[in-house]
Amino acid sequence: MKEEIVELIGLDKRKFEVYKIDEELEKERMVKIIYVKIRSKKYRCPKCNKFTSSVHDVLKPVKIKYLDIAGHSSVIYLSKRRFICHECNIKFTETTNLHEKNHTLSNKLKIKIRKDLLNKSMTIYEIARQNNVSEYTVRKELKIIMKDHSRSIKALPKIISFDEFKADTSYGKYAFIVNDPIHKCTLDILPNRKKEYLNNYFTKITNRNSVEYVIGDMYEPYLLVTKVMFSKAKYVADRFHYERYVMKALDSIRIRLQDEYGEKTKEYKLLKKRYNANLIRVYYNRVDNWYSYIKIYRNGHMTEIMKIDLLHQILNISEELKRGYELKELFLDIVNHSNYENAEKDLLAWIELCNESQISEIIEAAKTINNWLEHIVNSFIDKRLSNGYTEGVNKKNKRYKKTWIWI
Ligand SMILES: [Zn+2]
Repeated sequence: MKEEIVELIGLDKRKFEVYKIDEELEKERMVKIIYVKIRSKKYRCPKCNKFTSSVHDVLKPVKIKYLDIAGHSSVIYLSKRRFICHECNIKFTETTNLHEKNHTLSNKLKIKIRKDLLNKSMTIYEIARQNNVSEYTVRKELKIIMKDHSRSIKALPKIISFDEFKADTSYGKYAFIVNDPIHKCTLDILPNRKKEYLNNYFTKITNRNSVEYVIGDMYEPYLLVTKVMFSKAKYVADRFHYERYVMKALDSIRIRLQDEYGEKTKEYKLLKKRYNANLIRVYYNRVDNWYSYIKIYRNGHMTEIMKIDLLHQILNISEELKRGYELKELFLDIVNHSNYENAEKDLLAWIELCNESQISEIIEAAKTINNWLEHIVNSFIDKRLSNGYTEGVNKKNKRYKKTWIWI
């Protein structure tokens, strides 16, 4: 068992010996406690460089946070010995590459946290929770990678994408990311996403004029930065971002109706359920089987209902909701099936229908789509531009969850 653990957590058997394994409850989580000794018999004296094998004493074990073991957080208690050199009569503590001196995070856990930070689908909070460290610790690592990264970038590829994540660093609320969406990698992370800061940063990149496409959210500063810094590039609105915008409009209708009906009504319950809210958001074609049954709890007991019937029950609550749903579906039809030649015409027709709907949430969303029309249409130029990056990252993320150890 001990041997297995050593291999599972990637410790070098020649260097370390596990002499005890325990479990402990920490903040309602089971934590594996691994007691480790160092095998080395002799060390070089830091002063005279001669070998010594005289152990002076053994220090109180230091606690080092380590990687997950099969879903459990793990902590290493590392016993270190102090050696003495009889030549120069000095004492020194043995060192390992398990952690840096006086650091309570193992080097492996640090690398794991940095890797998570580059995964744009994870928030600081999720990273902290998953690695059993504080958000403060994650932010500290974030600052280090931001410093490391900023020195490395020199040239940009033809297609880049802008993104951000909530970081709350001392520099700003959002950290800014430049990605290479084609090769699915992060090129740089910057401490804030303010226009002046970004312009100043991109000034230093020499091949700016060879960038052809910049993909990003419908966020005006990014568009302005692109116009100034990448004058030859087209700005492409991120597909997931504008899709989400239309979904949100539908959500707002649903929430407004929910409040109008008021708690305790059956309409309220039908509208409020998370499963139902998702059911009306999802693209109709993306549901595997509308004729399958799902279990629901109604009038005090479990019963079964076909998905398609549930959908109709929800939509039948209100004409506005039904119309909002149809317009959302129409929008997704255009996004999924239109081409560059027709996209503008199709979207303009959709905007027209929205304005006729007299539903304020929908009219508002259509206004935003209209304002960004040119850049939304740009996302139809090439399949690669409708951002496969996020999907790629999410897949990667799932795979990580399965492989519970990271080496
Ligand atoms: Zn010595």
